[in-house]
Amino acid sequence: MKSFLYQALPMRVVFGAGALAQLPREVEALGARRALVLSTPEPEASARRVAALLGERAAGVFPQAVMHVPIETARAARAEALRVGADCAIAVGGGSTTGLGKAIALESALPIVAVPTTYAGSEMTPIYGLTEAGVKKTGRDPKVLPRSVIYDPELTRTLPWRLTVTSGMNAIAHAAEGLYAHDGSPIIALMAEEGIRATAAAMPRLGADPLDLEARGEALYGAWLCGAVLGAVAMGLHHKLCHTLGGTFNLPHAEVHGVVLPHALAYNAPGAPDAMSRVARALGAPSAARGAYDLAQRHGAPVSLKAIGMPVDGLDRAADLAVQNAYPNPRPLERAAIRDLLQRAYDGARPD
Ligand code: NAD
Repeated sequence: MKSFLYQALPMRVVFGAGALAQLPREVEALGARRALVLSTPEPEASARRVAALLGERAAGVFPQAVMHVPIETARAARAEALRVGADCAIAVGGGSTTGLGKAIALESALPIVAVPTTYAGSEMTPIYGLTEAGVKKTGRDPKVLPRSVIYDPELTRTLPWRLTVTSGMNAIAHAAEGLYAHDGSPIIALMAEEGIRATAAAMPRLGADPLDLEARGEALYGAWLCGAVLGAVAMGLHHKLCHTLGGTFNLPHAEVHGVVLPHALAYNAPGAPDAMSRVARALGAPSAARGAYDLAQRHGAPVSLKAIGMPVDGLDRAADLAVQNAYPNPRPLERAAIRDLLQRAYDGARPD
């Protein structure tokens, strides 16, 4: 067995249908008395329901989270937290809302309770992102890791079908890259393989009935494990490409992951045969790349960058950016081969 170093992150998870009812207890356990509830604008009603659940421990609702945490939104949320005298924040939503909570915590060390409603996995990571003047910068800080996470599958029943699939692909991408991460370990590999298996297995069940609570639970369980992998190890080419494509060309986060993953796996396959066997096994497919492609296509997720708004004349620049800074990846970063990968992703070609 290879040598490894494993550093566990503090993690408190309350999981189960109806688990949201435990929120007041989680807030109380933090010793908090004035919680600011964060959400995106659309599910403001559910944020208000959450505030009602907290009763007099709710200090207010800030329903203005948007994708990629613009610095202006972060500043407005920090000011609101100060104004209402918040001593904790509750992030009810997907990665954008959790990201806003992290932006507050980064400056104030306010404890965050996350209530994830997508499969993005941000709640399990100490990674934050802030966008200033159109440039998204990310960093790691243990301060931003939520103190408690409530996974309630009931809250994911409203997730639109396309986001269900693409967000599931986003989760699978974390785990797949975790399987070949240079700083991986056997425990991370266990979580990753099980995370992929559970997320992928839930998709056909949800395709048959998106309200199936058991299947929603299985997908959210998978997303938890995949998020924990993302929080523990360094990501490679796939995440780098998605970060570039999302940030530079403003493409939707989860959809980019779904489109790029099969091609990134095909690229990395020669450098990580064991990881690819595990991904394939978890997907129940003959190969990792094909398994990922077929999972997305079979469930109606977009499979080409063209379909999600990528300009064809941006492919060269994306390839340049992907090789600009060195980072660990199982296969060396070769500009021409990455340009070819991007073309295949643009065209939506099925991996060989
Ligand atoms: P999101 O949070 O932007 O949500 C997408 C849309 O879905 C929003 O309109 C939201 O209101 C809606 N939505 C969310 N949950 C819903 C539900 N249950 N029912 C109905 N509608 C719902 O999308 P996301 O993919 O979860 O997050 C993307 C963002 O998170 C990106 O900015 C990405 O960079 C970041 N992210 C960060 C990390 C990290 O570790 N820091 C990890 C993953 C993603």
